Amino acid sequence: VSPSSDRLVVTHAVILRRKPWRENSFLLEVFSPDLGRTTVIAQGARREQSAGETEPLTEYELTLYKSSGPYFLRGSHLVRGFRRNYQSDTVMYAACELYEQLILSPEDAPAFWELLVQFFDYVRSVERHPIAIFWRFALRVCHLLGVDLDIEHCTACGATDAPWAAYLPLRSGLLCRECLPRVAEANVLPLSKTTSRLLHDLPHIGNVLREVDIADESIQQVNRMLLVHLASHFHKPFHVKSLQLYG
Ligand SMILES: [Zn+2]
Repeated sequence: VSPSSDRLVVTHAVILRRKPWRENSFLLEVFSPDLGRTTVIAQGARREQSAGETEPLTEYELTLYKSSGPYFLRGSHLVRGFRRNYQSDTVMYAACELYEQLILSPEDAPAFWELLVQFFDYVRSVERHPIAIFWRFALRVCHLLGVDLDIEHCTACGATDAPWAAYLPLRSGLLCRECLPRVAEANVLPLSKTTSRLLHDLPHIGNVLREVDIADESIQQVNRMLLVHLASHFHKPFHVKSLQLYG
């Protein structure tokens, strides 16, 4: 065993983001079940692919060299690609952006890894409205983080079958139409009737994707609610640019 080989790590990983770095290298943000989110430098990769392929939305088995600073890419083997079409890829990029902003401890990485690759695998199989599958994924992310967004109860009265009128950031939950006027809180995110119906469908959305229509207004309201929910728990803004490109 050469002194350098114990600094080699072999791990599965998904490339969350790839950006050009220095003259001919890439800076990769990757997520791995062993390392969580980490930065990898693919030296010279833009010139000669010497270190192997590194396409986003793709799972690889990576061989990494651990320096005193970041990891360096030594090789990559393709495991499976997840790309499908513009809409599916857009929500997968949204998931990648979300993962880049999460603050996780290393022991949480395997569960978040499972969630991510299951989402990629499932979302590329649906014919319509991959955004709804993204929302369910984001709710599961909240659950794993221990910051559930309960979309099945009114946060004030506990009702389960009432029409939802708003999301109340202060209590991280939904308000039904009955309770909204009683809450002396101006700072709510209003939800339309169609968004309310959509949220009632969301727990079993996989079964009704063929029938439902999802209005642009609802897409904006649910996206905003999820990002505000995450932001209020992490005390920092969450930005997911890919969601603005969905359509
Ligand atoms: Zn209520």
